[in-house]
Amino acid sequence: MPSACSIRVRGVVQGVGFRPFVYRLAQVHTLAGWVLNAEQGVEIHLEGEPQSLEAFVSSLKAQSPPAASISEIEVLPAEPVGLREFTIRESQRRRHPTVQISPDLPICDECLKELFDPADRRHLYPYINCTNCGPRYSVLLALPYDRPNTTMKAWPLDDYCGREYSDPSNRRFHAQPVACPVCGPGYYLHPHDEAARGSESSIRRAAEMVRAGGILAVKGLGGYHLVCDARNPATVAALRDRKFRKEKPFAVMAKDLSVARSLVDLSPEAETLLTSIARPVVLAPAKVALDGVAPDNNELGVMLPYTPLHHLLFAAGAPETLVMTSANRSSEPIAYDDEDALQRLAGIADSFLVGQRPIARRVDDSVARAGAFGPVVLRRARGYAPGAVASIPSERPILALGADLKNSITLVVDGQAFVSQHIGDLDHYQSLRAFRETIEDLVSMYEVRRHELALVHDLHPQYLSTIHAAALGVPQTHVVQHHRAHVASVLAERGEWAKRVVGVSFDGTGYGDDGSIWGGEIFVGSVREGFERVAHLRSAALAGGDAAARYPVQAAAGFLAQVDELPDVFAAPFAFSERYRMAAELVHKNVRTFTTTSVGRLFDAAAALLGFTREVTFEGQAAIWLEQLARAASPTQPYPFPFIDNELDFRPLLRAVAQDRVRGRDAKEIARAFHRGIAQGLLDSVRLIAHTHKLDTVVFSGGVFQNELLLEDLKSLLSGASLQVWTNHAVPPNDGGISLGQAALAAFKP
Ligand SMILES: [Zn+2]
Ligand SMILES: [Zn+2]
Repeated sequence: MPSACSIRVRGVVQGVGFRPFVYRLAQVHTLAGWVLNAEQGVEIHLEGEPQSLEAFVSSLKAQSPPAASISEIEVLPAEPVGLREFTIRESQRRRHPTVQISPDLPICDECLKELFDPADRRHLYPYINCTNCGPRYSVLLALPYDRPNTTMKAWPLDDYCGREYSDPSNRRFHAQPVACPVCGPGYYLHPHDEAARGSESSIRRAAEMVRAGGILAVKGLGGYHLVCDARNPATVAALRDRKFRKEKPFAVMAKDLSVARSLVDLSPEAETLLTSIARPVVLAPAKVALDGVAPDNNELGVMLPYTPLHHLLFAAGAPETLVMTSANRSSEPIAYDDEDALQRLAGIADSFLVGQRPIARRVDDSVARAGAFGPVVLRRARGYAPGAVASIPSERPILALGADLKNSITLVVDGQAFVSQHIGDLDHYQSLRAFRETIEDLVSMYEVRRHELALVHDLHPQYLSTIHAAALGVPQTHVVQHHRAHVASVLAERGEWAKRVVGVSFDGTGYGDDGSIWGGEIFVGSVREGFERVAHLRSAALAGGDAAARYPVQAAAGFLAQVDELPDVFAAPFAFSERYRMAAELVHKNVRTFTTTSVGRLFDAAAALLGFTREVTFEGQAAIWLEQLARAASPTQPYPFPFIDNELDFRPLLRAVAQDRVRGRDAKEIARAFHRGIAQGLLDSVRLIAHTHKLDTVVFSGGVFQNELLLEDLKSLLSGASLQVWTNHAVPPNDGGISLGQAALAAFKP
């Protein structure tokens, strides 16, 4: 007597070869029934012998396709209806399509083998893919994920591809972007090159040009890259020049894992990240000096090839270490549209390697690091977006707009929090446009109606995201303070709504409850009850407000105004500029001066005292410089950073830095003692607060916690302590994680 069951699978289970996998599994266990894509995931009905049903369910968990990510399997008993075979049924549609859209996937091993097999139909074909690999989010125009709803709709399948596409036993069954050299798109060079006809020779010619020192714009999965030989200092310098990118590090792509290992020191954790399905750029300690690639930085960002095209470029003789940086002018979002790229990159790229498959939306490379408290994503985009990062209990859809720097947005639909790809800094026109497009994109993809939405934005009245919130015309709007959102983002990742914690947010800039510039805040509370500010960095004056973030000496002026026994900062070794004098005067007269508790600016002040007196050319540069300086010294006694009357007092800390510098102590050691002091002072305050409020867990979030040395110091000072530490893993600790925290706090607001 056959029995039956129905199974519901949730998670990333569509567009990743899940139905053919289920089909094959049913054949193996001689089970009848059906499988279909429902809007909440995959539904399976099975009939057969009870032990076969059991075996099926355990294989379902253990052997699921590499790109699938199962969040939940529900097995319920069902009535057998006497089915004789197993079939793949048509998709069902209900209210919101809450199925999770798969992120883009790197080429799989089987496709890679075919790519270099001369006997294969897709030999050297740059758009080879299957249900286990290839583009997803970057080709998707609408849901459901079917070929007519992708950017492949212009290429009808030929018989060969069509047969594979409709054969449930084939790896390409319902692989929506499937194509071959006969029926699919190809690559070509622009401007036209006589020597290059068709994909194969165009790619070979492109590899030659890079080898010869050229700068190429190459169309990839989520946008264009600028590509050049990382070991050619003249080319790298030319790229910096043309891109107006003076010092910000470039990422490199290594030909394979062994080349990557020769470039950076890879811990097992870092290697796991590097080879993970998201294939992010991984930051790790550099083993080689690549002139001009990452100036003043002991770390190097490395990634592995993830598209067939990358493998083809290397196979065609491209240098084994390539600078591979988002194609844009400095800080603009990555170019992804062909015409736009040709226009914006004219004068930067010598030549363009253009793929004919359109990109539906820009998706930058992700950046990650194997950090002291576990892996952390610093820029969340390709390979991760638009995956759900949390389940947030909210009946109502929530749209959270994030912050103005490193913007990302979060949409909560049917309790799933989907975080967009990294969008960028909204004060760039191109990024603002991308911000608006991404909102439209996510809201329409999940078919959310405006009047249903709850909208969340930052407290800052002048943020462009705040201004845009008003323009969206949504009746229900919540406002969330920046640093509370940082702390909530960590708890949201863990689904900890009621847990009371000490929440620390050390950051560059965020609008505070009192209208001043916050960034050194300690809270107590939970997502459910909200967070009360219980302590903070001692306030300092900030001449020029947020603009001071560009000039470390300008930030230093406000902090040092409170420090007594200060040496003459205009004399050697400080030699502060006129800008310092002007800023100090503004502070003295209290003109165009704001109040701040920003730890980011405190790091800037220390960097200025140790020699970083020029203008920064990218966000966080002075702090990164200070961290790299400190890394060159061994651990040393911390400078005092006392916690008195609920304030962390920076005065003894900066006094020690200035005085030791005058005494001639090595700047590296001073930087080290400064970091150690920050860590020690923070832990003293956190321990006291945790004790007072009877709490056992502390949360660290905010841009300052991208500082790996600070995290290492915190970890070593904490060892043996009973405090539990939680940090970000799925979303960045920088402002890229703000939207998730906003959404979580809004979900619990009355
Ligand atoms: Zn594949
Ligand atoms: Zn074909």
